[in-house]
Amino acid sequence: MNFATPPNLLPRLEAAGHLVTRLEPLEQRAIHEGFYAVEPALKALREELRGTPLWLPQIPAADGGQGLSVLEHGLLTEVLGRSPLGHYVANCQAPDAGNMEVLLEYGSEAQKDTFLKPLLAGETRSCFGMTEPGRAGSNPVWLETQAVLDGDAWVLDGRKWFTTAADGAAFCIVMAVTDPDAPPHQRASMILVPTDAPGFRRERNIPIMGEAGDGWMSHAEVSLEGVRVPKDNLLGARGHGFSIAQARLGPGRIHHCMRWIGICRRALEMMATRAASRMLTPHESLGERQAVAHWIAECSAEIEAARLLVLDAAWSIDEVGAKAARQKISMIKFFASDVLMKVIDRAIQVHGALGITDDLVLSWFYRHERGSRIYDGPDEVHKSVVARRILKEARQA
Ligand SMILES: Cc1cc2nc3c(=O)[nH]c(=O)nc-3n(C[C@H](O)[C@H](O)[C@H](O)COP(=O)(O)OP(=O)(O)OC[C@H]3O[C@@H](n4cnc5c(N)ncnc54)[C@H](O)[C@@H]3O)c2cc1C
Repeated sequence: MNFATPPNLLPRLEAAGHLVTRLEPLEQRAIHEGFYAVEPALKALREELRGTPLWLPQIPAADGGQGLSVLEHGLLTEVLGRSPLGHYVANCQAPDAGNMEVLLEYGSEAQKDTFLKPLLAGETRSCFGMTEPGRAGSNPVWLETQAVLDGDAWVLDGRKWFTTAADGAAFCIVMAVTDPDAPPHQRASMILVPTDAPGFRRERNIPIMGEAGDGWMSHAEVSLEGVRVPKDNLLGARGHGFSIAQARLGPGRIHHCMRWIGICRRALEMMATRAASRMLTPHESLGERQAVAHWIAECSAEIEAARLLVLDAAWSIDEVGAKAARQKISMIKFFASDVLMKVIDRAIQVHGALGITDDLVLSWFYRHERGSRIYDGPDEVHKSVVARRILKEARQA
């Protein structure tokens, strides 16, 4: 395996680097005034990017994207991830990116026309409703939300939460139990639900450590009461919701992890710049203190280790597929999120009181990336997956 950046990717990475630097004033406005305040400016930037090598990097060329491999997209994601807005302007942001992939793979032609095309064009946004307040999200085969076939319509009832970006989304891919008597992994299906369907209600944007956010930068609680959608809104085969969700999450975890590495790099740079320039005395900077210097060295090593692990997992997905690379995907999920939290925390510490203010992007990262240890499977679940395989091999030895 060779992790040297492919030369043909270099101009793309450079363009992404310029883009995230340009985004810095906008991200400050987004943090202070909210997503809708900057949406017009983001729209203008998207127009600029449309059709360039940064637009829809993860989507096949035949569908208007760049057709990058998982590894190539991972490398681009690392750069875009430096800004909270980087992926959004390139139209490869969660949860839309995963929803696009599912629609491409499992959507009917009619579903692609109605739901996918406007998403690829950047005209709409979407959300994904699986987690429920009343059930442990760590066990995604045990859901309360039901969808019952009534003539030529599905009727949905239930409650979802942490439905990222539901505020302003055109539709939601809802995971609902359609076959309660089937084996657990075949009970749920994915159903496309327009957010303006009667009975679909966004109850609130959930405050995250004091900040509810808005638009794409929010997580909603959603209720579904007698929501009727056409029978044909079933996405993929009936009872296959769980397996489709698993397929959606494999490459998605690479993208999250590489985005976290991008955040780590930016935090480390901020940490080093502050340590080198903040004077403790007229002759001595913070970075000359051994504790601070060691944090910088440790963070640097931990970021490199996490990066190589993630790139190895991305390469494995390209080579053998997400299923065979499952062990590595679980490893990077908990390892990279742990490094992310450590690096952000140390960067804040080096900035002192300034670090916890909203004058810097660090506090935003701290608030919003704490969820990295919880979403896409809590760290403990992934550790169990990894340990189970190792213990099984030990028992067989
Ligand atoms: C920022 C953010 C965005 C999200 N976006 C979405 C979205 O768009 N759509 C969506 O459907 N969901 C979304 N989620 C929800 C996410 O998928 C769930 O939070 C996650 O699956 C965990 O479920 P839970 O919160 O119900 O925790 P629980 O399942 O109640 O688990 C609580 C804790 O118990 C521990 N635990 C759980 N299982 C085990 C185990 N097997 N062994 C040991 N310990 C365990 C873990 O520490 C875990 O954090 C989002 C979450 C966050 C934080």
